[in-house]
Amino acid sequence: MTDAPILVVGAGQCGLKAVETLRTGGYDGDLVFIGAEPHAPYQRPPLSKAFLKGEMSRDRLMLKPDRFFQEKAIQTRFGEAVAAIAPERREVTLAGGEHLAYSKLLLTTGTRARRVPLEGTDLAGVFHLRELADVEWIAANLDPSMRLAIVGAGYIGLEVAAALRVAGYNVTVLEGAERILRRVVCPEVSAFFDGLHRDHGVDIRTSTLPSRIVGAERVEAIEFSDGNRLACDAVLLAVGAEPVTDLAAAAGIGCENGILVDTSCRTSAPDVFAAGDCAAFPSARYGRTIRLECVQNAIDQGKAAAQAMLGTPVAYDPLPWFWSDQYHVKLQIAGLSDGHTEIAIEGAPSDAGFAVTYLKEGVPVAVDAVNQPRAHMLARRSLATPTAAEPAAAAAGTA
Ligand SMILES: Cc1cc2nc3c(=O)[nH]c(=O)nc-3n(C[C@H](O)[C@H](O)[C@H](O)COP(=O)(O)OP(=O)(O)OC[C@H]3O[C@@H](n4cnc5c(N)ncnc54)[C@H](O)[C@@H]3O)c2cc1C
Repeated sequence: MTDAPILVVGAGQCGLKAVETLRTGGYDGDLVFIGAEPHAPYQRPPLSKAFLKGEMSRDRLMLKPDRFFQEKAIQTRFGEAVAAIAPERREVTLAGGEHLAYSKLLLTTGTRARRVPLEGTDLAGVFHLRELADVEWIAANLDPSMRLAIVGAGYIGLEVAAALRVAGYNVTVLEGAERILRRVVCPEVSAFFDGLHRDHGVDIRTSTLPSRIVGAERVEAIEFSDGNRLACDAVLLAVGAEPVTDLAAAAGIGCENGILVDTSCRTSAPDVFAAGDCAAFPSARYGRTIRLECVQNAIDQGKAAAQAMLGTPVAYDPLPWFWSDQYHVKLQIAGLSDGHTEIAIEGAPSDAGFAVTYLKEGVPVAVDAVNQPRAHMLARRSLATPTAAEPAAAAAGTA
């Protein structure tokens, strides 16, 4: 049984960190790395930033050169999807029908773009942005003479708005909530980004929900409930992501907004682990089960899962951090701000830089730093030990 390979399913940033850690941690048995996309793992963040703008080459997008996998004796099966897991037989089945036995299995299947239950989403010109193939589709099918409508004013929607507006596109952003980025930042930060986009000529319409997308074969317009229409040539649906749990759920592994794992990344099935965007884990730091969609978590939890698979005790409970680039502005977020009771703002909101500390009953829980990298780094340090935390912006001496 122990001769069977370790399988890692999902060739993104998290799976890559896991296979790398298995090797550096001393595992010298067979290791198979399986991914549905036809590429080696690449960085996803530039897909809505530098790579979309054409400022980054495809080579630089890749996380490792091909020789890495040969040198580390990692057998790659890119372009192949796993169709089923049989935990009782310790075996997975590939979409092509082949069965692969495992000694241990790690699921790093990530997220997929959330679908919008709207008539017309199957028209030509309607797209999502999640994979390299999506950016290749944009490059081949869209051009700056087009009118682009973006449904959803979260990070990805707004980053694409910024990148393509600068490229010359006519861009309208439609957001159902009363302000952009409502789920993730306070009204003051939303207002700053709203103004930033308007100053660049993006038409932002909040409290606005499309009722359908219309067109003969290609998208021609978005229609609203009052019958009004917004004429457009392309529509990006950017209303968030959902964890890819299908394989785990079908195998009877516990799932609830993600594949449920413990702090050692173990699922409910023996020797089956999960990590990254697809995994929901108990956080003592936040007093609840959380699931994170960020590079920090993909890397750190991928490493933690591999260590746990090698028998090293781990208790994964990170301080999450994240960033977003829009125009010349970098927003860096440390910690989770939901449930905060007050905020403290250092500096007037402007692109010269400001920082917002979110507090819960007087204790800092998160910091948004806008063009303030130092405040962000200090916040990561101070928030990592909550009892020692001070408002990070103040600690950074920002004004
Ligand atoms: C456009 C964009 C911009 C982003 N910007 C930022 C940012 O600025 N900062 C930040 O921190 N985070 C950002 N993120 C989020 C970050 O990229 C993700 O959190 C991270 O990539 C998650 O890594 P992962 O390996 O867990 O999952 P993923 O990267 O989703 O990889 C999972 C892989 O598993 C594969 N897979 C799924 N099912 C199967 C199967 N059955 N068989 C085989 N393979 C399968 C998928 O095809 C995929 O390749 C961004 C994401 C996107 C899409």
